[in-house]
This record gives sequence, C-alpha cells and structure tokens, in this order.
Amino acid sequence: MFKKSNFKSRAEKVLSPVLSHYTELEVAKAKGVYLIGKDGRKYLDFASGIAATNVGHCHPKVVAAISRQSELLIHACAGVAYYEPNIALAEKLKTITPDGLDMTFFCQSGSEAIEAAIKLAKYVSKRSGLIAFKGSFHGRTLGALSVTFSNPKYREGYEPLVPNVYMAPYAYCYRCDKKIKRGKTFASPMEAKDYDPFPKADSCSMECLTDTETIIKKVGPTNVAAIIVEPIQGEGGYIVPPREFIKGLKTLCENYNLLLIFDEIQTGFGRTGKFFAAEHFGISPDIMALAKAIASGLPLGATIAREDLMKSWSPGAHGSTMSGNPVTCEAGRTTIEIIEKEGLIPQAEKLGRFLKLKLLELQNKYPVIGDVRGVGLVVGAEFVHPQGKEPNPDIVKRIREECLKNGLILISCGSDGHVIRFIPPLIIKKDEIATALDIFEAALKKVS
Ligand code: PMP
Repeated sequence: MFKKSNFKSRAEKVLSPVLSHYTELEVAKAKGVYLIGKDGRKYLDFASGIAATNVGHCHPKVVAAISRQSELLIHACAGVAYYEPNIALAEKLKTITPDGLDMTFFCQSGSEAIEAAIKLAKYVSKRSGLIAFKGSFHGRTLGALSVTFSNPKYREGYEPLVPNVYMAPYAYCYRCDKKIKRGKTFASPMEAKDYDPFPKADSCSMECLTDTETIIKKVGPTNVAAIIVEPIQGEGGYIVPPREFIKGLKTLCENYNLLLIFDEIQTGFGRTGKFFAAEHFGISPDIMALAKAIASGLPLGATIAREDLMKSWSPGAHGSTMSGNPVTCEAGRTTIEIIEKEGLIPQAEKLGRFLKLKLLELQNKYPVIGDVRGVGLVVGAEFVHPQGKEPNPDIVKRIREECLKNGLILISCGSDGHVIRFIPPLIIKKDEIATALDIFEAALKKVS
C-alpha cells in the first residue's frame, strides 16, 4: 500500500516546506479518538486535527453521508444550480447558532470564513476600520492575516496588509498585572453546581475594555466597521477571558454602532460544552465565522450573519466556485446530527471539567505549569520557568516528544509555543482521558 521510502522524505521532495509540522508521525488511518500509524501503532489523538474531528475520526455516519452524497452529486456549483445539502445545512445552522444569525455563506476554510466576515462587515457598514486583539489568530489569507497578531512570524514578509486594523488588548488574565480571581475551584468539582471555568472579574477594572474603547474613540467610531474576536482565544494560548470582557465588547459595539464578529472556528460545534462559545456569554454577535469541526475534517467553512446584513450584500459582491459543496455540506449536516444525538455537548462539559481539574492537581505538583485554563474540552496548560513567569517553550517541546513516544499526540499554542492544548474528540471516554493524563504526567516527571 505504501511506497518504500518514508512519507517524510518523499514529502520533503515535493511538498512546500512552508507548512510547519508538529510531529513527524506517519499516519495510515484513524478511528474514533485514535490515529493509527503506518506501523500499525495507535496514538491517542489529543489534537483532533487541530480541533476538527469533534465527533471522532471517520465516524461511520459521516463516512456513510459522504459516500451517499458522492454517488448523487459531488459538484454542480451553488451559483449554477440549487440543490439540497447546502440549503439543509444552512437551515440547521440557523437553528443552532445564537439568535439573529440567520443566513450563511459557505466556503472551504476558516481563513475564507474570516475573509467573508471582514468583506461583509466592510461592505455593509461602508467603513474600513477593524479592531482585533493581541494574541488573535484568524487565518493565513491576507485579510485574515491582517487581523492576526498571535505571532509576528505569521505577518513577516507580507506587509503591508489590509490597512486600518487596530490591535486592542485581550483579557489575558494570567499575564495581566491587575490581579484577577480564577473561577472557583472545588474539592469535588465534578459535583459542584456553581463550578465556573471563567475568571472572575469582580475585583478588576477591566482596563483591556477601557483601552479598546479608547482605540474606538481615537480612530473615530464612524471609521470602524467591526470588532473581530475569538470568544476564547485559540492559537494565542487557549486564553479564557472573564465573561465581562466579551459582554463588554458587545456593549461597546452597541454604544458605538459597530458590528461584532465572533470567530468560532476553533470553539464551535460543542467544543466548549455549548454548541457555540457565544452561549457562555449570553450574547449574539452580528457575524460569526465557522470551520474546522463543522464537517468532521472535510474542507468547509461558513460565515453566518444577521439577515439584514446578508441581504445588503449585493449578489456578486462575493463568491466561490465550491461554495456550499454538496458532499462537505452533507458531512456537516450529519456531524451536527451526531453532536445532538450522541449528547456530545454535555459530554464535553463534563469531561472537560474532569480534565481541567486533574490538570490543576498537576499544576500544584509541578511548578513549571504556570496556569491551567479551559472551558469544556478546550483546555490549555501554560508552561513557565518556575522562578517567574517566563514562557517555557522548551519544556513544552520535550513533553510533547515524550508523550508522542508513549502514544499520545499533543500540540502546542501560545505566542511563544509555551502552552500545551488538550483538544481530544468530544466522543472521548473518561478512562481515555485518564490514560492520556498518566502519559502526560510521566512525561512531566521525566523532563522537569
Ligand atoms: N480562526 C481560528 C480561531 C483558528 O483557530 C483558525 C485555525 N487554527 C483559523 C481561524 C483559520 O482556519 P483555517 O486554517 O481553516 O484557514
């Protein structure tokens, strides 16, 4: 089945080295929560193809949907003819996304979903300014890159990017000098009714919000089309803000008549223990970008927005040959059905709580873990040099390598690559999380 020379050496001859690699793992197939190596070895996948396989790898219902749909219609182009799967998926998205998000434009990736969100915001508001956040990641295409600040390396060599983008501070409480209380932790967290994964802002002056408002005033509100934000920051380090921060952004948008764009590309589809992270804050953005887990790993993205905004976007002002591809949309509709039928959302909440609290226990034992944060099954552990808070990417690299040797795939994030993220498929079982934690602790012991 495989050519003699290994994947890596063949890939290095023909695939652009621009795509960086977390591991050198050579994978043949995948099932559920496991990737299976070319050598037949099973690896517990705590990366989920970067938060894309929420219902597990190759879920039989997704496989069947792809197969069924590809026998009927693989492509016609939604601009050439109407067909069922993209309409059905958009109808479903309307029912599961926050109130007021009613019309969808489909694309193929997260970056494209952001491009569409930015273009829509600019087009309908007739304004050019965008406010994005320190640590943000919205994608690699030039528009999405213009609002991405998680790593200067991503922008190097591409400036000038889209103009009139202003960077505001995100509520990164762990690295903020204004002390903030962590959400309560409990002796018996699995039972605790008032367990709250969000930091408490009671004693905080929320300067991050004040600074954002200052930027709006300085730029002039009538020059700003939108605020674009990840409700829980992903690539920037799995940063969980206080609820007040995201709610405060909504208020700023209302007060200054700006559009609010949520990037839920990484947080969507049950990952945080709600269908979308927006639900944790009880607010609806005006525009939301989706991708990754939407179709269980098939290339599909979506920009969903208020009907009045979408209806002001003139036909032809945006488009794509593959928009709303029948096969990817059918995989998407089936993925949502699985999330609902298999109860994966409460599962993510419950198991995320277990995982996070176990990591907090490890934090007490190992001072290299500076912070543990997360909501549902989007959990991060930030590594530092124990003498202070200096980011410690070296130890992260060594832990990841050690875990991989022992059959656990973990990837990093954070501006310095100093955060390990735990994003298993939502179908994972408690004992599989426990196994992963054993491997993780053994690695910690060995390298720290
Ligand atoms: N937004 C967020 C929050 C992401 O995490 C990512 C991908 N990591 C993107 C946008 C870009 O998505 P894609 O790689 O599919 O273009």
